[in-house]
Amino acid sequence: MEPILNYINGEFLPSTSGRTMETVNPANGQPITTLPRSSADDVELATAAAHEATPSWSATTMEERITWLHRIADALEEEAETIAQLESMDTGKPISLARRVDAARSVSNFRFFADFGKSHTEPTFADHGAVNHVHRSPIGCVGLITPWNLPLYLLTWKVAPALLMGNTIVAKPSELTPMTANHLAKILTSINFPKGVFNLVHGLGPEVGQAIVEHPEIRGISFTGGTATGKIVAATAAPMFKKLSLELGGKNATIVLDDAPLEDVMDGIVRASFTNSGQVCLCGSRVLVDASIYDRFKAMFVEAVNTIRVGDPTLEATVMGSVISKDHQTKVESYIELGRQEGGVVLTGGTAAESPVDDVPSEGAFLRPTVIEGLSYTARTATEEIFGPVVTLHSFNSEQEAIDMANATQYGLAGSVWTADTERGHAFAQRMDTGIVWVNTWLNRDLRTPFGGVKQSGVGREGGTWSLNFFSELTNICVQQP
Ligand code: NAD
Repeated sequence: MEPILNYINGEFLPSTSGRTMETVNPANGQPITTLPRSSADDVELATAAAHEATPSWSATTMEERITWLHRIADALEEEAETIAQLESMDTGKPISLARRVDAARSVSNFRFFADFGKSHTEPTFADHGAVNHVHRSPIGCVGLITPWNLPLYLLTWKVAPALLMGNTIVAKPSELTPMTANHLAKILTSINFPKGVFNLVHGLGPEVGQAIVEHPEIRGISFTGGTATGKIVAATAAPMFKKLSLELGGKNATIVLDDAPLEDVMDGIVRASFTNSGQVCLCGSRVLVDASIYDRFKAMFVEAVNTIRVGDPTLEATVMGSVISKDHQTKVESYIELGRQEGGVVLTGGTAAESPVDDVPSEGAFLRPTVIEGLSYTARTATEEIFGPVVTLHSFNSEQEAIDMANATQYGLAGSVWTADTERGHAFAQRMDTGIVWVNTWLNRDLRTPFGGVKQSGVGREGGTWSLNFFSELTNICVQQP
């Protein structure tokens, strides 16, 4: 495939140093192509282009920007199959998942914010003979930094509202998954999107990401990634008083109450556990089950997990592909071993050596879905983010104990509660120290709702009005007749 290049001021450019690196298909270990290993010099070029484009882009009307978002959505939709193929190749996720989730949601992110923009109004408040007008302005140039698990899905989740509110962009996708961001840049060129409004700089986090966060002309940073990186981003941006949105890691609890209709909810719980090989920040990696139904749940869960078809991501029937890289496979396997050292028993799955996947290249980073029981809920395996196909099972004896267990990690991103009684589920959800709770469902997203975490899962919310708030500055203009 042709090399990936940076996208700066509407032009595809190599890094100023000429350095490159490879992106690899994790399902077969083969290099796909090269991408620029950019530096602060490339970030400087991209920021200068964005800075120059800011006055004209921010002067466009909301209606004009809405029209652009629809055009981008239309063009992306036409390329949906290509997007799905590129995403599957770059991440190792099954093609069916890439079509259903990644390609579809990338289109709907633009479509949603275009429609949402139509209902946008600026409130006014009259008092004491004066009228206050709350005016929104763009931040200016914003930096968008994204991870590898849902590459274009998460990038467009930021690009669409940033553009809608009149900002220009310097974006950096994960160095592991640059393919679809590059394709978005090609699509923008094909529809004559204004030059310099969207810029893309590829490369390593500590080199390119860090330079974006440090750049004084980049006034807001929306970052999605791991908690450890989020700490570095926060420490860099805070002294510069940049606007900052941090969407970080999770160790989410799936809580199965004693009245849960197991036959009906099992599919949902398995999906919450292992979608995208467990590499979704919202996946439920700790399953807490009422002790009175634990044995029945365990038997049904393991049976259902064993039906997940793991293998070649290009095959339609594959449900679980590879993990993101051999390095990540090694990390996940080290947690499976740690689980054993901490007293856990592997009920199904395990390391690739002990539970190999048939008919896949040995260079592929494949793991079977793994279920571990017998661990304390405070064990490292049960509290640290593994971000792979590993789930721990725990039992509880009362709702209070379940709440205590659910809240016993440094994270607070998401969770789910499964019960026949929705009022009980709703009440339980309110006691969870987390940003999102689903009752009898999972990853059921209404894009108008706030998305984000508490504790070490992040700061701020994105989605609907919350995204518009993040990607704009408010000026209150108080007007009194002379
Ligand atoms: P990561 O933190 O390693 O990398 C994320 C991005 O940050 C990448 O583009 C990377 O190059 C960049 N980066 C690295 N160092 C940087 C630095 N010093 N300054 C600026 N940028 C830097 O995360 P990852 O491994 O790509 O993704 C997995 C993590 O993302 C998991 O922890 C997962 O939970 C989290 N995640 C969170 C959400 C959410 O919405 N909360 C969504 C998806 C993934």
